[in-house]
Amino acid sequence: MDTVTILGARGSVPRAGADFAKYGGNTTCILAQLGGETIILDAGTGLMELPSPGDGSKRASLLLTHAHVDHLLGLPLCPLLMDSASRLDIYSKSRNGLDTEAQINLLISPPLWPVRVSQLPADVLMMEMPMSFSIGPVSVETIEGIHPGGVTLIKLIHGDRSVAFVTDCTLTDAIMPTVTEFARGCSLLLCDGQYSDEEWESRRSFGHSTWSRAVQLGLACGAEKVRIVHHDPTHTDRMLDAAAGRLAAEHSDCSFAMAMEEIIL
Ligand SMILES: [Zn+2]
Ligand SMILES: [Zn+2]
Repeated sequence: MDTVTILGARGSVPRAGADFAKYGGNTTCILAQLGGETIILDAGTGLMELPSPGDGSKRASLLLTHAHVDHLLGLPLCPLLMDSASRLDIYSKSRNGLDTEAQINLLISPPLWPVRVSQLPADVLMMEMPMSFSIGPVSVETIEGIHPGGVTLIKLIHGDRSVAFVTDCTLTDAIMPTVTEFARGCSLLLCDGQYSDEEWESRRSFGHSTWSRAVQLGLACGAEKVRIVHHDPTHTDRMLDAAAGRLAAEHSDCSFAMAMEEIIL
């Protein structure tokens, strides 16, 4: 059975407390278990919720959309990296002339952090993410989105099941056709919807999208399920609950991603 678990769906900075219990305070981290592979999308603080592997397999792949802090902050204390029996393959695109390891080292090295990822006990390989490649039986396809500093949109395909991860992307009119084609017919669309339409007006350059654009993309690409991610740090459970009804009215299976929600593809 192929599943996706929302380990973290908060955007920008983590939040804590009762007001953020349902939709979660941990930043972006998605666990995709497809075809027997463990694939992690982004390494926000949700990575701390990664379940320990029950089958003795300690090999996983981590695909980074980009190296903004909210997508990396879970990495330094990730339990997988503390275990010398673990193997983690980390993929990302080069940006600003920096390869994957150099980008990670910007945050996770002295003086910002005591050690580098390469000094942790696990066997870690950091490499360039190709446009398309395979992880076991899972095909990975990528395109570039619109975000300050760049972002990679990622699609995982296993047989007739697929998940499209469209986070940290401004869904402009110009890019909508490309992203729609990219996500066409996916089983699950995970889409950036940080803002309401009203909020977006004053945040057009921030590199994110809106609830209504996420629904629009879900309908246009024919996604079976849509989960909106990258919740704004000021959006409480009460605010998202109040907006959730509008999503359900427009798409048969669309909601804001909840903390630790498991979705069967
Ligand atoms: Zn982000
Ligand atoms: Zn970002």
